[in-house]
Amino acid sequence: MIGSRRGEGRGVESIAAAVLFDRDGTLVVDVPYNGDPVRVKPVPGARAALDRLRAAGLPTAVVSNQSGVARGLLTTEQVAAVNARVDELLGPFDAVVVCEHGPDDGCACRKPRPGLVLEAARRLGVDPARCVLVGDIGTDVEAARAAGARPVLVPTAVTRPEEVAAAPEVADDLAAAVDLVLDAHPAALPGA
Ligand SMILES: [Mg+2]
Repeated sequence: MIGSRRGEGRGVESIAAAVLFDRDGTLVVDVPYNGDPVRVKPVPGARAALDRLRAAGLPTAVVSNQSGVARGLLTTEQVAAVNARVDELLGPFDAVVVCEHGPDDGCACRKPRPGLVLEAARRLGVDPARCVLVGDIGTDVEAARAAGARPVLVPTAVTRPEEVAAAPEVADDLAAAVDLVLDAHPAALPGA
């Protein structure tokens, strides 16, 4: 594993209350502007990583930019169908929050803005500061920071080196990201 482990000595306020995931390139193999549920393919280890979080009692959510809708490349119904397939393969998620705006729409939700993270936290009934956001690119890290959440970057082959360098915590894969989350979690402490 690369990156830091910060579990030791963290206060109760930093114990994760929920874990949010970017969808494309994080939970499922990125198929740009995918509107076809048949093409949904989980990344290796995703199911097991999510199962560990759920076993620890942590809610999970998806926070996903889907600008293909604003660009006219996808319909809201296609996004919903793909999300339903993601939920079938990797769920149940406690919330799925999508931004369908384009980069020039000036919305508050599109990552790197904080809106998706804040909305997911609201729906889960948790403090955004106690949410972890696991994502594969710099905008995920920035969105988490903007919302006061804790970013964990799981880079892929397309993640830019400067995005990796700028991330406070980096994990090799989803299993390692979950290790970072559970490191400070009561369910993972000796005697729990
Ligand atoms: Mg992504």
